[in-house]
Amino acid sequence: MANELDLVVAGSGIAGLTAALTGARAGLRTLILTGEMLGGQLLSINEIDGLPGFETPAAGYDFCPITQELAVAAGAELVATTLDAIAPADGQWRLKAGDGNDYLARGLVLATGAELRKLGIPGEERLFGKGVSHCASCDAPLLKGKDAVVIGGGDSAAQEALTLAQTCARVTILHRGAAMSAQQAYRDRVTQQENIVIRYRHLAEEILGTSGVEAVRARDDAAGTTADIPADGVFVYIGLAPNTGFLSDRIALDGDGRIPTDVAMRTVATGICAAGAVRSLWPGRAAASAGDGATAALAMRDYLCQDRWRDG
Ligand code: NDP
Repeated sequence: MANELDLVVAGSGIAGLTAALTGARAGLRTLILTGEMLGGQLLSINEIDGLPGFETPAAGYDFCPITQELAVAAGAELVATTLDAIAPADGQWRLKAGDGNDYLARGLVLATGAELRKLGIPGEERLFGKGVSHCASCDAPLLKGKDAVVIGGGDSAAQEALTLAQTCARVTILHRGAAMSAQQAYRDRVTQQENIVIRYRHLAEEILGTSGVEAVRARDDAAGTTADIPADGVFVYIGLAPNTGFLSDRIALDGDGRIPTDVAMRTVATGICAAGAVRSLWPGRAAASAGDGATAALAMRDYLCQDRWRDG
């Protein structure tokens, strides 16, 4: 017999936690399927900039657990498992979870977030956890006085290079473009940071090392030369891949693999909203993810309590 809920939220990043908080506060019997990492991607961010209400950047490991506690205090329950498949079931959604249980949900908010993309170059898999890392704030203390290489040119690359620069002797950013696409404030900070070197038009070709990372082999596209850049840690920040594999064609995705929604976060599937990094046109800010989650939960309340859903 499946567990029956008003609202199931898949994902426990800031979008999912805020959806659960808002849904529970609206009186909906709410369950969070946390996914593999309770707290989501933000949990590993040392400084979340640009959050309204915070004088200084909030730490992800504070911000996420506080929001989780608020959701639980409002009545939401958590189950530490993944959402593996969904199927329609008599006007509800049957959810197959990774723990072997089935759940029946009248409403579902997909807040499954995104994973860091991989480069797919030799050495990246083999040396993962041996110097290749997805968490600059976790590994920065281990790299005190050492060299790190960050690959990418967006906000994540800039932000994490700044985190690493606090402890590393030198941080080299390898970016394939001629200019970074990060926010101006980050671009200013990385160019002013003495121990950050930016190498433009550089393509990482291989991560070298035997028992741990020793260097990154990179091609200078402008000069047409290749060199090995010494590194004790390598951090790949080349964008995000949305977690939508479990949908298996139940909802058509956009060209980036994200879930299209209307302004109330409703998808084309009645009773399903999407929020945060998994939805189309996500603007890439923590504040926006929280807003998505609240908006989705309120759309769900209107659907479940007043039978209001989108047209078409
Ligand atoms: P982005 O997609 O914004 O940037 C990806 C970067 O990686 C680009 O510089 C891109 O280069 C480069 N890249 C992509 N593919 C490759 C490849 N195969 N090889 C080499 N380089 C590659 O991803 P981010 O993770 O930086 O950011 C994700 C979202 O999170 C964004 O919306 C961002 O604004 C947001 N964010 C916000 C923060 C904040 O507000 N404080 C902090 C961190 C992230 P190119 O430009 O050539 O395509």
